[in-house]
Amino acid sequence: MSANDPNCIFCKIVTGQIPSKKVYEDEELFVFHDIQPWAPVHFLIVPKQHIPSLAQLTSEHERLMGRMMVLAPRLAAEQGCNPYPEGGFRVVCNTGVEGGQEVHHLHVHVMGGPRPWLRG
Ligand code: 5GP
Ligand code: ZN
Repeated sequence: MSANDPNCIFCKIVTGQIPSKKVYEDEELFVFHDIQPWAPVHFLIVPKQHIPSLAQLTSEHERLMGRMMVLAPRLAAEQGCNPYPEGGFRVVCNTGVEGGQEVHHLHVHVMGGPRPWLRG
């Protein structure tokens, strides 16, 4: 698995070749608003490294995935999701075609904010 895939739209977002509304960035993660939000808050957490999906993960990725999960509640609160338990947010990781995955660069959806939502 190479660090970047030249045909991958999320690799292009990570490198700035495709513009996005950035929420957060560090050495290994990039976070941006979904272009077609389902909810008042809807952003995507992606590793900068091109990993196609959850299906490719090995024990080497445990720390990276842990960081993504720990980042989710912090950024959800910063982006305006109401506090748990009355508020909260939804975390979704579509995997493979039958799992509803359209972009094959691992990403975690974080959706929240007051109901009703457009979807989900
Ligand atoms: P998936 O169905 O693969 O889990 O979700 C892919 C998500 O990426 C969709 O919610 C879609 O709206 C979002 N998306 C696709 N292309 C772009 C883009 O160019 N920019 C941004 N910000 N989001 C995108
Ligand atoms: Zn990629």
